[in-house]
Amino acid sequence: MTNDGLHRVVGRCIYCDSTDALTREHIIPEGLGGRRALEGYHEAHVLREASCEVCRQITQSLEQECLRRVFPFVRIALDLDRKDRRPPQYKVIVKDGQGNLEERWLPRNELPISLAMPIYGDPTIMIKPAHPNQVFWGVTQLVGPVSPMIAPLTSDGKEIVFPEAPKRYNMRHVHLTARMMAKIALGWSVLYLGPDGFKPLIREFILGSDTDFARWMGGFARHILTGKPHAQVKAEPEALHMFRLAFEPKNEKEEFVIVCMRLFAMFNGPENWVVVGTRRR
Ligand SMILES: [Zn+2]
Repeated sequence: MTNDGLHRVVGRCIYCDSTDALTREHIIPEGLGGRRALEGYHEAHVLREASCEVCRQITQSLEQECLRRVFPFVRIALDLDRKDRRPPQYKVIVKDGQGNLEERWLPRNELPISLAMPIYGDPTIMIKPAHPNQVFWGVTQLVGPVSPMIAPLTSDGKEIVFPEAPKRYNMRHVHLTARMMAKIALGWSVLYLGPDGFKPLIREFILGSDTDFARWMGGFARHILTGKPHAQVKAEPEALHMFRLAFEPKNEKEEFVIVCMRLFAMFNGPENWVVVGTRRR
């Protein structure tokens, strides 16, 4: 096992422990800027020999669906979409005063920015005892219109309907975002703690056989309900995403390994916790 800065050679699949046909993992998906260095780092975060082919296919399709469904407009605005797949124009749906919907084609530079993020309750694995009312979720619009009343209009006065607007959000979006955050958090933990530095708890959730996202992540809802600031560190304007490791006691012998992450910190993206696993105190 070697570790040179922001790279680590793992030598087994971080999702299933297989040692067959291992490939490298960008910890942050390439479609969310994973090839770039994060603010404050000099290169991208990469795990080598870290995913088997079966798990690579699962996580790749998770990433593709999440990026396409949840973050299409913000990725275009930040040039995070693939250059070889950029169409000359983009289809948007516009709505007239009577509510009639119609397709419209816009060039790239006229597309609106829109970014919404799910609001998750506290990770229920950390709540004693867990209470169903704490499994709160909603959606917060960070950039772009909150309501149709302030939606941008095209030159002939028609409203652009955002696919990311909260009313269009559904449980699938919330679940996809949670799984992608879990995948990023597992990779981040393996990079900094090593594959033997903790006992992972979220591998089944990332691979899809466990669907209980509320168990493993969240925390932003509490900040809304209490009015407290939702992140300890204010993001620099150029900080695309921000991550930090944290540890909270589980019992006398163990502590939770947590990755606190702010996706799209530059747009005031909320800080959520992902409970990645446990380790000895
Ligand atoms: Zn695997």
